[in-house]
Amino acid sequence: MQLDQQKIESLRAMLAEPKSVVILAHTNPDGDAIGSSLAWAELLTKNGHSVTCIIPNRYPYYLEFMPGIRTMLNYKNDTDGSTEKAVREADIIFCLDFHTMSRLEGLGDVIEGNREAKRVLIDHHLDPVQDFDLMFSYSEASSTCYLLARIIEQLYGLEHISATMAENLFVGMMTDTGNFAFSTVTPDLFRMVSVMAATGISIPAIHNNVYNSFTEGRARLFGYVINRKMKIFHNGTVAHMSLTEKEMRRFWFQQGDSEGFVNYPLTIKKMKMSAMFTEHSDFIRVSLRSRGDIDVNLFAQRFFNGGGHRNAAGGKSFVSMEETLKHYEECVALYAKEGNLK
Ligand code: 5GP
Ligand code: MN
Repeated sequence: MQLDQQKIESLRAMLAEPKSVVILAHTNPDGDAIGSSLAWAELLTKNGHSVTCIIPNRYPYYLEFMPGIRTMLNYKNDTDGSTEKAVREADIIFCLDFHTMSRLEGLGDVIEGNREAKRVLIDHHLDPVQDFDLMFSYSEASSTCYLLARIIEQLYGLEHISATMAENLFVGMMTDTGNFAFSTVTPDLFRMVSVMAATGISIPAIHNNVYNSFTEGRARLFGYVINRKMKIFHNGTVAHMSLTEKEMRRFWFQQGDSEGFVNYPLTIKKMKMSAMFTEHSDFIRVSLRSRGDIDVNLFAQRFFNGGGHRNAAGGKSFVSMEETLKHYEECVALYAKEGNLK
């Protein structure tokens, strides 16, 4: 991955004087979105900028340990207009770890209210919208945190990465690569990990905080979903699972509890593609995973108003759970017929 030096220079120029900066992450923010936002915020604050991090809705409870996370403004919980004020006053708006304003949901309209601010994208999703003054869009980057570390390296030097920044960046590098297991990992990612480790962060502690800090309800919910809700079809190569609001209540569901479930069917040797459907008040959230050349980004775009990466994508459905599952099975059949499931 080669960063465009001209873009780095444009960013340097943009940040030459103290600015009011807003950093945005996507709805249902994950470790990569939060980690990159917090690390970037820390660095920009140290460099004299006035920085506000905004998330469209709350973060999952197991990310509570991330340094600085409590300073983030939650747009959905905003009672005093502080997110609107920060956006209104912003000179620069950074969009981290998402590629279309639709991933901001209601917060997107607030952002539209300030067309004066420069918009900068730092992201690794496919097919970003082109509505930015400056774009760091690298779909080959395994995480936004890795991409941001590379940008910081060229902009100011890696010695500017503090231990707290490293902790936040490491979370994104780890979670977006499935704990350094996905095909997106590169030798250079491990060079960056080594830089993070050298700041003195505790990798076992971070790992424990992210992967071993769930509730009992989540463990029981997981067992229930795999045992009772996983349907395997298409000759044992495709799976789907679903959760209704009622089922979530039964297991004291908290936001983030079903994170990662969708990956589990892919532990079965023959499995090629997996989907998880979770019911929300006005839509069903769709989460897709695949192996190798099977493209769920395209699948999500065509059939579920979404997108993402080749092997991890998502979208939404606006019909009932029953109809959604039927639609999914039909789309899988069509996709297979077109030769896209080989
Ligand atoms: P997850 O299944 O972890 O929620 O999402 C996996 C990936 O799918 C995310 O990194 C994101 O790129 C993409 N994604 C999830 N939901 C949506 C959506 O509603 N719209 C789009 N365009 N992409 C999504
Ligand atoms: Mn990401």
